[in-house]
Amino acid sequence: MPFPDVLDQVRHRMASIRKVDTKPELVVRRRAHALGFRFRLHRRDLPGTPDLVFPGRKKAIFVHGCFWHQHGCGRGQKLPSVRAEYWGPKLRRNVERDAAAEAALLLLGWQLLVVWECECQDSTGLSERLRRFLVNT
Ligand SMILES: [Zn+2]
Repeated sequence: MPFPDVLDQVRHRMASIRKVDTKPELVVRRRAHALGFRFRLHRRDLPGTPDLVFPGRKKAIFVHGCFWHQHGCGRGQKLPSVRAEYWGPKLRRNVERDAAAEAALLLLGWQLLVVWECECQDSTGLSERLRRFLVNT
């Protein structure tokens, strides 16, 4: 092989690019894990199937996409102009379902944190929020 080192470097770099997944939920998982917390994923027996669950602490985290869950940020408030009659009610139902799930979890004595997709870009801020939420009782 002519340039094995170069090929190796390229292969290595491509592999590391693939590994960095910026999907918001994975970002939050990585951060919580890096902080040393252990958690379960998608507990279907809990209202709303929270994305991360910390059973011992009775804390749960939802990671919400800004569009699907209608965040107050720019991305969340941008409604598609096509088929507005479809999207409007569908997104409203999502918001109603979120509110119902949150209320039900609170009634069961769980503490909640909602992390929005747009908040995952600030990894330092995100880590700090997660730490504060998970450490405080
Ligand atoms: Zn947002």
